[in-house]
Amino acid sequence: MKMDSNEDNEEVSAIQQEEENKGTGRYKTRSRKKISDDNGTPTTTTDDTSKSHRRKTTREKKMSREDSKPVVDVVKKEEPTQKKRNNNKRKAEESDEKVAEKRARGTNSKSAAEKQVKAEEDVKPDHPDVNGKDAESKPVVKPKAASNKKKKKNGEDEPIPRPVKYESLGDGPPPVPSTGHKYMGCHVSGAGGVWNAFANAEECSAKSFALFLRSQRQWVAKPLEDETVKKWKEGSKECAPHLVLPHGSYLMNLGSSSEETLIKSRNLLVEEMKRCQRLGIPHFNFHPGSTLGKRSRVECCKLIAEGINLAHRQTEGVICVLENMCCQGFTVGGDFHELRSIIEHVEDRSRVGVCLDTCHAHAAGYDLSTEKGFQELLDDFEKIIGWQFLRGLHINDSKGKTGDHLDRHENIGKGTIGIEGFRRVMNCEYFNDIPLILETPWTSNEGYGKEIKILESLIQK
Ligand SMILES: [Zn+2]
Ligand SMILES: [Zn+2]
Repeated sequence: MKMDSNEDNEEVSAIQQEEENKGTGRYKTRSRKKISDDNGTPTTTTDDTSKSHRRKTTREKKMSREDSKPVVDVVKKEEPTQKKRNNNKRKAEESDEKVAEKRARGTNSKSAAEKQVKAEEDVKPDHPDVNGKDAESKPVVKPKAASNKKKKKNGEDEPIPRPVKYESLGDGPPPVPSTGHKYMGCHVSGAGGVWNAFANAEECSAKSFALFLRSQRQWVAKPLEDETVKKWKEGSKECAPHLVLPHGSYLMNLGSSSEETLIKSRNLLVEEMKRCQRLGIPHFNFHPGSTLGKRSRVECCKLIAEGINLAHRQTEGVICVLENMCCQGFTVGGDFHELRSIIEHVEDRSRVGVCLDTCHAHAAGYDLSTEKGFQELLDDFEKIIGWQFLRGLHINDSKGKTGDHLDRHENIGKGTIGIEGFRRVMNCEYFNDIPLILETPWTSNEGYGKEIKILESLIQK
């Protein structure tokens, strides 16, 4: 695993050279300067105003200064989607949590409840290492009685209110080292021992990676052994710590309305963060949670933040990295305002960040196959959250269409985002210096290696 800058520079420039020879690509790579302001917060300048993505000009800023109008373009698009969410997507609710709990309990009976769980399983996200089955499965309709009951009981699933003014959320976590490079990587297996992730990452030619630090399907895992920590530290010698972005368990729901699940989720977060702490990993990435239709999104965001605050008090140094979701069912985090709201309620904002998933953003309504959709994503992220919070990217194409709220990852270039969409991503300066993680359907480490090369070949000089 070669992730320190010198090695990387060589690798990157070799690829860029190759690419230059081929003469492909539309977007120019810009030279970029990072300047620290008085607070030490990096500000970014660019000396090229070509097509690549850049800080907004005054005019553009003025144009987007209609912030006081509570809803942005994309959000407008989201309004009908919100309704769609209410009408169509109820089927997705409770999936992770229920399935996991059934599994944990080892339910064997072929009860209606189990069939229900089976149906819910079909809307589980198809992340690597998560479910081996084909993600092509059609949306599954939940038994009518159940969904009607839920609707009556819970009323509308209201979107979170928009702030009148978008105040900055502050400095965020300390900036990562600025090198101006892209650190393309992937989700790798830590089977047989987490330290094996380094060898797997190397096999994929990954310069960054994600992994599960424990079984993501069980609430309880055996503690890290000293030997494991030792082997990890040996493996991580050549690797910048911020380029490893562990992914949390799918069982966890920090917004759960079940007291039992909430307590288990909070304990799980602390347990995982302590693992990170012992291994010297500064970030921990997880899905914010779900209202399960049982509380408002506003309340749910507060509850999630409370879980983070509690975990902060019991751990040191590890940054909680929230992932944007795709507005599926009652999942929280598809709307950037929900992430904003969580961050607002986190007491120590130097220990909270965001990981942006391209498939999720596309499914949530930002059409990343177009320049316009990509620009909207950048504008919204900057305005609603702020780049200082970005700690990683999950680079996935999408099987589903934009705005359909389906979490269906596809291999790069084979989905509805398409290769031009990823050319924009790979030439966007905001995504320098952070882990860029593939979570596309895995076939082999070699396959991931090829996908990484494809993405790297999109980077323009
Ligand atoms: Zn994820
Ligand atoms: Zn996903």
